[in-house]
Amino acid sequence: MRGKFHCRGCGRALSGEVIVQSLKDPGVQTPDFIDQRPVCAEGSGFKSYEPLQRSHDPSNPAALEFVPQYWLNPADFEATGKVTSKRGRTNGCCGMDGCDGPNIECRECGTEIGTKQSDCWTPLIFVPDPDNTEFRKTAT
Ligand SMILES: [Zn+2]
Ligand SMILES: [Zn+2]
Repeated sequence: MRGKFHCRGCGRALSGEVIVQSLKDPGVQTPDFIDQRPVCAEGSGFKSYEPLQRSHDPSNPAALEFVPQYWLNPADFEATGKVTSKRGRTNGCCGMDGCDGPNIECRECGTEIGTKQSDCWTPLIFVPDPDNTEFRKTAT
C-alpha cells in the first residue's frame, strides 16, 4: 500500500508518499536489523505485527511494544519532525536509543509523532506514534 503519514495534531503530511509492505504478507521478508543502518530505503517501509521492543516485565511494557507498528526510514521525517526538548527522551551514547518514549515532534504543532532510533547499537529507524499519526492511503 501507498500513502502518506499525517500528524493528527495539525493534519499536515509528515512524509512524502511511502510504499508500505505488510509483514503479514508471506511474500514479504522481515528486514534485517543492522546497527546504524536504515531498516528500509527512503520512501518505503513495513507494517509489522511484531513489536520492535519487548519488556521482560509485563507490568512495565517497553516503549515500542505496541502493534501493529510501522518501521520507516527516519530521513522521510527529517523535514517535518524535530527532536523533542523533553529531558529523558533522547538518551543514547552517540545517538538516540528510542527506549524512553517518543522523541520526535511535529515541527508545525509540537505533537509527538514518533520514535527514532539512531544509536550505535540500534538500527536507524523511525516508528510513528499510532495515537498521534495517521497513515492515509493515496492509492491501492
Ligand atoms: Zn502537527
Ligand atoms: Zn552509541
